[in-house]
Amino acid sequence: MRLATLHNLFVIEDAAHAIDSFYKSKPLGGIGHFGCFSFHETKNIQCGEGGMLVINDERFAERAEIIWEKGTNRSKFFRGEIDKYGWVDTGSSFLPSDMLAAFLLAQLEHVREIQNKRINLWKYYYNKLLPLAGEGYIKLPFVPEFATNNGHMFYFICKSESQRAAIIKKLRTHSISAVFHYQSLHRSPFMEGKNFCDLVYSDLYSDNLLRLPFYFELTMEQADKICELIYETVSQEQEELIKELQYNIVD
Ligand SMILES: *Cc1c(COP(=O)(O)O)cnc(C)c1O
Repeated sequence: MRLATLHNLFVIEDAAHAIDSFYKSKPLGGIGHFGCFSFHETKNIQCGEGGMLVINDERFAERAEIIWEKGTNRSKFFRGEIDKYGWVDTGSSFLPSDMLAAFLLAQLEHVREIQNKRINLWKYYYNKLLPLAGEGYIKLPFVPEFATNNGHMFYFICKSESQRAAIIKKLRTHSISAVFHYQSLHRSPFMEGKNFCDLVYSDLYSDNLLRLPFYFELTMEQADKICELIYETVSQEQEELIKELQYNIVD
């Protein structure tokens, strides 16, 4: 924000999955001139497809309303501020349907309950897997001092791509779907043929990050089962590794 002021720029926050998140006690989406939230089905609060624009600078409120109303000043008309309405700017139809809005409202009314459940689930996974991380088998997420955790997803970093594959396979045999996350953009087909320097961390997270099932209805018992299977996989891998080492020593 300091840089933006210095250079006369505007900041649009991509706070898409940052609902109920804080940076030094400031809510995300409330720091820049604008904040954008997503209500896509993958988010904490969702209606399938949808979103919210937060305007933190009054200068932009009127124009945003017009763009939102297809380029007309219809909202002003409905408030009785003008006696007829018409086209005053470009715009489009950015409104969700009534059905989606109702679906979303019901969740917003229960946002604390939803968030408490998600955050508890997150902590549950975290504590269950802590011993495994302590032994150096996996790496758990780290939440720095200045940030809060909004329980959006639960992930950890596997030791290797093969460990991740083994865990996914194991969970799948129990009809549990664990997925990895985005592939790095520099490795996407769209970027093929373009030259990049080595992006070590980008590659590491693409290859080794694993997400666990994480949604409101998930129970602690189910989370237990998932963690149990992860422990099983890791210890099996460990045994195999030890065996292999022993053979090597014998050789
Ligand atoms: C989900 C997400 C988006 C996309 O949101 P849509 O509602 O699908 O447009 C963009 N940025 C981030 C960081 C997200 O998590």
